[in-house]
Amino acid sequence: MNSENILEVKNLKKHFPIKAGVFQKVVGHVKSVDGVSFNIKRGQTFGLVGESGCGKTTIGRTILRLTEPTEGEAILNGKDIFKMSNKELQKIRPNIQIIFQDPYSSLDPRMPVGEIIGEAVRQHNIVPKSEYREYILKIMEDCGLRHYHIDRYPHEFSGGQRQRICIARALALNPSLIIADEPVSALDVSIQAQIINLMKDLQAKRNISYLFISHDLSVIRYISDVIGVMYLGNLVEMASKEEIFDNPMHPYTKSLLSAIPIPDPEMKMDRTILEGDLPSPANPPVGCKFNTRCPECMEICKKEDPKLRIIGNNHKIACHLYNNIV
Ligand code: SF4
Repeated sequence: MNSENILEVKNLKKHFPIKAGVFQKVVGHVKSVDGVSFNIKRGQTFGLVGESGCGKTTIGRTILRLTEPTEGEAILNGKDIFKMSNKELQKIRPNIQIIFQDPYSSLDPRMPVGEIIGEAVRQHNIVPKSEYREYILKIMEDCGLRHYHIDRYPHEFSGGQRQRICIARALALNPSLIIADEPVSALDVSIQAQIINLMKDLQAKRNISYLFISHDLSVIRYISDVIGVMYLGNLVEMASKEEIFDNPMHPYTKSLLSAIPIPDPEMKMDRTILEGDLPSPANPPVGCKFNTRCPECMEICKKEDPKLRIIGNNHKIACHLYNNIV
């Protein structure tokens, strides 16, 4: 494993069986994630973007072993998470945390904030008992919460403050990697910026790495160092943020970028509207999975599945349009 990386995901697959009939016979599989590989560098953010149903949330949940993988490896600090026993998994749990999309349903409404943040701190003996309260207050402060919030309940807070509580709960365990699954999608735009700025500040101070999952490319652009674009269970393009935004190559990435609103009423938007819905991952199109919606589809696209390969400046792309570029 490269020591620069905190996480290396290799050929990750998650196929859910489709069962039917009285005997619940397996009649097929939903290939939610179908051979995804990427690395996350220490102190950096890997942004995973794509439409709902493309498999990005499943990747996050599988890395955390909230759902078991079908195949692949996820090497965290040199150890494969997928091969760990329950005891080993329990030990590394503080090191890898998650922030969910809905800050309300992920907080226990019967617990005061201090207890929500501190429960796992006590469980994992993060600090001695005598320093416990001071520690929780400091974490709350770092996340923009006031000391008097410690005895309040989740329903007394706004959506943005609730997400700060979720971030504080994750941070209290001193993680080196946080998986943030659409952490700002349920918030107002002005609050989204505050939460992302908070996450960036914490990253700079504590050298945390993020796997940031979102369907929103403008949010991904603001926080990510490297971006992976997903379509129907596969990465179709992966490069640095600058490369993706200055030199998008895959037709799907181009269509996502063209949908970002431009805050200038004079400027005419040149949008690429994708036809149809995302096909079912239980029955994906033959060849390139994007061929049913691609405005540049060719004959070969309906027969051969393009592989993700490096083109130019560490820019990876899976598309037949670039077959002649070495
Ligand atoms: Fe479009 Fe073909 Fe490229 Fe797929 S391989 S994105 S169908 S041009």
